[in-house]
Amino acid sequence: MSRAQRTTERIEPDEPVVIDRRKGVDKWRYTCPNGHTSWDRTNSHLWCPACARAADHDDDIDPEHYELLDKSAEKLIPWDSVEVVS
Ligand SMILES: [Zn+2]
Repeated sequence: MSRAQRTTERIEPDEPVVIDRRKGVDKWRYTCPNGHTSWDRTNSHLWCPACARAADHDDDIDPEHYELLDKSAEKLIPWDSVEVVS
């Protein structure tokens, strides 16, 4: 697994983090843990097509994520605390 590479701190927000990806600022701020903006949400986690393509060539990459990266704060947000409105 590639988790050992991660140095970004994980936070547990008090309030849900509301993300509106129709706003460019949110789209570019919140990415998959590997920095991609093109993630999709599923019932219980997020799925990243860019990671899925990379996973074809690298067994260490998993396209399914349970955390979202806040690039602005450089923190990982657990998916449970994320609310996507778009
Ligand atoms: Zn990704």
